[in-house]
Amino acid sequence: MVYNPKGFEGSKPKFFSKKWWRETMKYWHLNLNEIQEMIGFCRQYKNILIFGVSENCEYILKFFDICNVRVNAFVENNLPEHKFCYREIPVITTDKLIKQFSTVDTGIILGLYNEHYESVIPYLRKCDFSYFDVSEHNKNIIMSKLSPKPPKETHIEIPITEHCNLNCKMCNYFAPLAKKQFYPLTNFRNDIKRLANLCEHKLGTLKIIGGEPLLHPNLIEILRISRETFQDNEIILVTNGTLLLHHENAKQGNIWDALKKFNIWILLTVYPININVNAIFDKANEYGVNIGIIPNLPNPDSEKKLHKFVLDPLGKQEAFTFINCGYFNSCVTMMQGGKIFPCPPAAHIHIFNEFFNENLMITEDDYVDIYKIKSFSDISDLCSRRVEFCKYCAIKSHGRWYKWEVSNKTIDEWIDIAGEESST
Ligand code: SF4
Repeated sequence: MVYNPKGFEGSKPKFFSKKWWRETMKYWHLNLNEIQEMIGFCRQYKNILIFGVSENCEYILKFFDICNVRVNAFVENNLPEHKFCYREIPVITTDKLIKQFSTVDTGIILGLYNEHYESVIPYLRKCDFSYFDVSEHNKNIIMSKLSPKPPKETHIEIPITEHCNLNCKMCNYFAPLAKKQFYPLTNFRNDIKRLANLCEHKLGTLKIIGGEPLLHPNLIEILRISRETFQDNEIILVTNGTLLLHHENAKQGNIWDALKKFNIWILLTVYPININVNAIFDKANEYGVNIGIIPNLPNPDSEKKLHKFVLDPLGKQEAFTFINCGYFNSCVTMMQGGKIFPCPPAAHIHIFNEFFNENLMITEDDYVDIYKIKSFSDISDLCSRRVEFCKYCAIKSHGRWYKWEVSNKTIDEWIDIAGEESST
């Protein structure tokens, strides 16, 4: 059977182009200093009000809930018809604002779009209310990140191995520390079917990933099950490419034939190692397999660098920092047995804990079990809120890039050492 999902013939995965990647990176990072100032502003007042009652104002409320900032009400010039999408709180008019709240102990967050400022700011100044102006960029990102996503906008990755044959330093999946282990076929079949039922076969993208997925002895069967289960969805095999040319005549069959037959993309990460990328592209052309390269960051035109994902084993990170995490609400991970985590570090932390005898705890707040939940909305909700595990991610220390190297398997690759500097 040849699978030919509608709309994918000749198309490219969304994250194929450098431009898309650059734009996405820019978009996903907000101004954390401004967020910190906003939280500091709120801490000065007994009462906090959000001016505006649109959808983005509700996501600012959600953000404040996560950061333990109590919001009393939304303020509007007139009482609008409003259907709450997150949660209901009182909405008051500007008349009531003056009557009910004193200027001394009330702080106002401007949640509405900047175009309305002309009418609002002079009024607040006249009444002598203190206000905090949230930038449009931050407002948009808060809303986008905290909105639960429907299945068709959700990209789920399934690591079918945890170990890898490259063992990059600082790997966010802790693959250099992982034991040799494979997602058993029976579990894979059951888990993916249950997932498909929950999302009614409408997933955005399914990524088969590792460790290095080509190490799995039943990879072809996994690709077949994936395509049979998700017939009309984008499926991508994410690989370091080192084994692709060897798998033309592998014991389990010809990987290239399988990729073509099941219409599955290859997404290649090109590391600065001795690998013949042109030969891989020639082979893909020969078999008619679609292939893309993950653009290198921070500069797509230079060789692959390593990004250090810094952990804080003491779990002392401030609540607001998660909002700048690149994984947040974008990199859902399903592990063997059907546990869904919002991100790879939480999904794979057991490897780090076991290897270094650490105890960065996973609690029931950090995942959902696909065999216990009733609908996909539980997955969407998990991924659009801060989980308990976020306290271990030192997001403010992220952003440093290092030359690619093989891991020494020492803990300093994953935690911060005092005085450390970027070596890009
Ligand atoms: S636990 Fe939270 S902050 Fe850490 S990687 Fe996952 S989503 Fe990001």
